[in-house]
Amino acid sequence: MFGKENHKKIINRCIYCGNTGPQLTDEHIIPYALNGDFILKNASCSECQKITSTFESNVLKYIWGDFRNGAGFRSRNKKKNNKIEISIINKKGEEDKLILPKDEQMIYIILPEYEEPGYLIGKDNKGVNVVGTTTFIHTPKMPIENFREKYELSGFKISSTYSYSDFPRLLMKIAYGMAIFQYGYDCFEENYVLPYILDKHKDGLGNFVGTAKNKIILPQAGIVTILLGFVNNSSDLMANIKFFPSIKNGEETMPEYLVVLGHLKEQFIPKNK
Ligand SMILES: [Zn+2]
Repeated sequence: MFGKENHKKIINRCIYCGNTGPQLTDEHIIPYALNGDFILKNASCSECQKITSTFESNVLKYIWGDFRNGAGFRSRNKKKNNKIEISIINKKGEEDKLILPKDEQMIYIILPEYEEPGYLIGKDNKGVNVVGTTTFIHTPKMPIENFREKYELSGFKISSTYSYSDFPRLLMKIAYGMAIFQYGYDCFEENYVLPYILDKHKDGLGNFVGTAKNKIILPQAGIVTILLGFVNNSSDLMANIKFFPSIKNGEETMPEYLVVLGHLKEQFIPKNK
């Protein structure tokens, strides 16, 4: 059993720029908005926090906000939406809007799928190439068929707009935080993801982040599952990340993302390979 204290590690310097303070804030490895419990204490300066909170809130607040509210995640903003507006196709085949009361909510999330990270497949990916999406729709209070009948719908029209780099950078941030939690602040010989997290590099983002062809995370409870491992017996550290690992669409589980973090210093590499 892990106690709460096992989920905290004191760092006392900014994990992004190395600044030793003052006024360092705590970093939630899995964002607070996703009920994350792993915390790096005193681990971000205010400058870096400004940078990371921008892409983090773009994803969690603007793209996943309705889903998070509907699914009951915590929020620092206590004023929750009471109504949810969805776009529908009515019986006549016309597009329309429907405002649902809170107790008949429909929640959905659309996750992008990318190519595998270029680094792993020997390809130079300038950006992340979206190759598909996984959509999950849930109507908690009644089966989706009754929902269609009650509101006389012939279909839903749902979409999410992901900006080019916000979600990949969030994946990098989560993976990087987990690596620091596991191996400590000073573990990297060379770090591939920091320049992207801090927005110093843009080109080549798709070399270090992508979607796994072969999923290894099994369906399980929880909101995010992160596994750290090494790439093909090298010193390169990689993270597998899956959001909402318990959700299944038939046999299909949610996408599993890969982040190639960088190579670790000698002393952190397992000797028995
Ligand atoms: Zn900093």
